Amino acid sequence: MAVPQLDLIAQNQAIAQELEQAFSRILATGGFLLGPYVESFETELARLCECDHAVALASGTDALLVALMALDIGPGDEVIVPSFTFFATAGSVHRVGATPVFVDIEPGSFNLDPAAVEAAITPRTRAIMPVHLFGLMADMDRLLELAQKHDIQIIEDAAQAIAARWRGRPAGGVGRIGCLSFYPTKNLAGIGDGGAVVTGDAELAARCRSLRNHGQTGTYEHQWVGGNFRLDAIQGAALGLKIKLLDNYTQLRRQAACRYHQALAGSPLVLPDAPDHAVHVYNQYTVRVPDGRRDALLSRLQEQGIAARVYYPKPLHLQPCFAHLKGLSGRLEASEAACGQVMSLPIFPELTSGQQEEVCRAIKDYFS
Ligand SMILES: *Cc1c(COP(=O)(O)O)cnc(C)c1O
Repeated sequence: MAVPQLDLIAQNQAIAQELEQAFSRILATGGFLLGPYVESFETELARLCECDHAVALASGTDALLVALMALDIGPGDEVIVPSFTFFATAGSVHRVGATPVFVDIEPGSFNLDPAAVEAAITPRTRAIMPVHLFGLMADMDRLLELAQKHDIQIIEDAAQAIAARWRGRPAGGVGRIGCLSFYPTKNLAGIGDGGAVVTGDAELAARCRSLRNHGQTGTYEHQWVGGNFRLDAIQGAALGLKIKLLDNYTQLRRQAACRYHQALAGSPLVLPDAPDHAVHVYNQYTVRVPDGRRDALLSRLQEQGIAARVYYPKPLHLQPCFAHLKGLSGRLEASEAACGQVMSLPIFPELTSGQQEEVCRAIKDYFS
């Protein structure tokens, strides 16, 4: 039995009728961008993230870009980012003309190591961009403390962590501004690209809203240079329907993670873990495979049709496009080690326990 990495069909099939109704209405009215569906989605999203404001955008990458632009971060500024993350985190810092400063991770959580962050702060540091990788929030206690002490901003990259919590507070709603993605592999999955920023700061939210539309502040009046970062009405409608089901999707992911924990305890794999005060939402269930056996295990699973994947095989400080920044970060041992050891097992709300047994059986066979 093959086990896919995720199922992009089933989840939307379950709400096909409601989706089609909304699409017909959009076709009939011709309101293809922003509009009432997007606005009501923003209201729901703000509530979910316990922020006063949510601004829907065309992608999670645009959310990072807009957050940086709205905070006036640009040439001469440094932004501290983890090296072990998806490319967009650092790519967006570079795109506004600022310098990404790559910092190492804690081996256990795969998230920014606060001690390494502190060591990387300079007078040019404007922001820290913690990534809540795989669905577990970074150590926000210590990062907030550092941000306060050094008067720098926290821009949360919560693309993988919608509905995750840290001491009861929601991902995206803890820093100055939070960035979300609704790419189809994310926990709140659109039917195309989508993203958003959330913030408690009304002025900052208004600026993001304006940047979304080329920095327009009145009719053909531009206070800032923004871009076209608008979300489609079709995405707004789909996300508005699916955000009501997110709690269920999250519970199903957490249950699946629990089943992996139980079935794989006692195997040589190092399993993901979360502190008691965090709620992990398992966008990925990422294990470490010790003793240099990751690639062999991965091929064995893939031969059997089990779609395990490596997120991420190469840290960002070693990417050719950032080679000129290497001197700033030096060696990042934990990030480099993680790239050689991690493997993400199939996890998605519709994953069945039968499929999980198949994955676990294949893993146990490999080690036996
Ligand atoms: C997916 C992702 C992004 C970018 O989101 P897109 O919607 O694909 O542009 C940014 N950061 C992280 C950590 C992500 O996983």
